[in-house]
Amino acid sequence: MNSQDSFSFTRCLSGGQLLELDACTQCGECLKYCPVQEVTGDRSVSPPEKIRHFKEFIKKTSGLRRWLFAGGRIDENLLQDFTKAVFECTTCGACGQACTVGIHTQRLWPMLRREMVKRGLGPVGQQKETPEAVSRTGNPYGKPSGERFSWFLASEAKVAEKAKLGYYAGCTGAYEAKPMVRGDVLALSRVGEPFTMLPPEEEVCCGFPLFITGQFELLEGLVKRLAGAYAAKGVETLICSCPCCVNMISRDWPSFYGRRLPFRAMHISQYIDRALRDSRLSIAKALDERLIYHDPCYLSRGLGITEEPRDILSRIPGAKLLEFERNRTNSRCCGSGGAARKVFRDNALAIFRLAINEACEKKADRLVLSCPACYSVAGAALEGYDRQVDVVDIMELLSEVF
Ligand code: SF4
Ligand code: SF4
Repeated sequence: MNSQDSFSFTRCLSGGQLLELDACTQCGECLKYCPVQEVTGDRSVSPPEKIRHFKEFIKKTSGLRRWLFAGGRIDENLLQDFTKAVFECTTCGACGQACTVGIHTQRLWPMLRREMVKRGLGPVGQQKETPEAVSRTGNPYGKPSGERFSWFLASEAKVAEKAKLGYYAGCTGAYEAKPMVRGDVLALSRVGEPFTMLPPEEEVCCGFPLFITGQFELLEGLVKRLAGAYAAKGVETLICSCPCCVNMISRDWPSFYGRRLPFRAMHISQYIDRALRDSRLSIAKALDERLIYHDPCYLSRGLGITEEPRDILSRIPGAKLLEFERNRTNSRCCGSGGAARKVFRDNALAIFRLAINEACEKKADRLVLSCPACYSVAGAALEGYDRQVDVVDIMELLSEVF
């Protein structure tokens, strides 16, 4: 497909999203919150710039103007710069949270990405390899499926063949944030409700890295395969370690599945918080530490889950909970969202180092995370950096105090 194929740029957007584009007043309020702009100083990634350019593309390729202005040709360099800006964004949604007219940017940006993919302009860099890696191995990292979670299951958890409760480790957790998946499984085991998992070869990608990079071809197959497998195990509630998986499953799986899902998805922090409240789980040990909790974008702004992790941490005797200046639905992205961390690695490291700096300034003993993408970028950002703080996943931490 040629990037200048003269169909309109509106094919991937809903009517509501077209109205959102029109509603942007270019007020610039959202500029204060964009983490990419904060570390690069580049305004091209900012929402008003992206929206202004995209509206120009729509005008040039729609209706009368297309006929009047040479078939709506758009400058190739502008298209390429725009594509980079759209894919450099972490889709953190902080701009949407601050938007004065309520534009839901966490949903809008992926659709702009999809449009650029349809024109053969995106995705960028290593993102292009994701479909092949998922097809070949079941995960976007291209790692062997047999290694997915064989490293902990046999010795540490009793996994039921069938159960109403299912656990989906997710690719980033299983391959890049193993301690957090181990923490999840230990916490689930401690609650004692039987839970089931798919065998490592069957637990494939939830589709989020493909969805978020606008590459939709494999999605229907992945969703049907996973949803069918969990339904066959009798799962009614599917627990995930990754907020992006929960977003993908609850919001987007039904459209690829073709009907309502036979189960609901839930983040591990929701389930464990409920177990603590119901006294199905208790904390036995104290922890004399200052903890600072980072809200992941897709957990806080995506799902509105901000209090459950804090409730869990506040139940640990002796622990003092600190807050980042930007917290809850106003949190700053870790830098790795939207499949940006592999391609725009320097941005991701610089953004996470802002969190390290603040955690150090507030004298936190540990920086607590609850998302495998945050966990993965944290390790890379700490490497060779002159400021250091211990990083821990919330379930990894909890498993220390049972
Ligand atoms: S979603 Fe996040 S990274 Fe993307 S433009 Fe908005 S604030 Fe910036
Ligand atoms: S805050 Fe909303 S309306 Fe204002 S520039 Fe940003 S996206 Fe546009």
